[in-house]
Amino acid sequence: MEKKKLIAGNWKMNGSLAANEALVRALAAGMGPAGCIAAVCVPAPYLAQLQALRAGSALELGAQDVSAHEQGAYTGELSAAMLKEFGVRYAIVGHSERRQYHGETDALVADKAKAALAHGITPICCVGETLAEREAGKTEEVVKRQLAAVIHTNGHCISEIAVAYEPVWAIGTGKTATPEQAQQVHAVLRAQLKAATPHAERVHILYGGSMNAANAASLLAQPDIDGGLIGGASLKAADFLTIIAAAR
Ligand code: PEP
Repeated sequence: MEKKKLIAGNWKMNGSLAANEALVRALAAGMGPAGCIAAVCVPAPYLAQLQALRAGSALELGAQDVSAHEQGAYTGELSAAMLKEFGVRYAIVGHSERRQYHGETDALVADKAKAALAHGITPICCVGETLAEREAGKTEEVVKRQLAAVIHTNGHCISEIAVAYEPVWAIGTGKTATPEQAQQVHAVLRAQLKAATPHAERVHILYGGSMNAANAASLLAQPDIDGGLIGGASLKAADFLTIIAAAR
């Protein structure tokens, strides 16, 4: 059976109690019978609100980060066990904004993925090249290095992760990779997963980077694009619903 696609919204540092309620009510009303898995990765202070708001709907809950540590003196961090208590099913790890602004390394991202998996949370492991790296012909080298760290640390659990290919030059810029450019990288990532696990087909490889209501269908039609990680367009109910519908 073909796996359902996964459409995950990354709200980033956006939202308010009132705005979240309006958005989630509109999503729940418009989603219809689930033809794909739809999730929203929300700022941590809103997890309890979302846990209540999503009750009875097919909308899954995600976090935008998770600590690599179990518990203890790590001020400001959130453990996988804490996230799990709020019904979190997915956690983004290694988003380029965290790599860029918080100095997250490949090794740390791999450890975060491990911490999530240990608590039954699917890490959405982000990889992607900068514009300079693409122009230098280093796209494959970069994404393979980033994914290799996650594979190395997570061994036989690797079929339980999700991957998001997010070219840094396409995030929040309105510049999208063409379906062919994205598929080319997704095929490289799939091959790398296949070398690590006999269950590589199970892994959702998402595309992220200015995916929107207009371009989602053509990206999602590619054989190795199993869904999307959506920033800006996930904050508008009509746009996110159109992307969800395109993933059926
Ligand atoms: C993201 O932040 O993961 C993302 C893909 O953002 P946007 O869709 O806004 O480019």
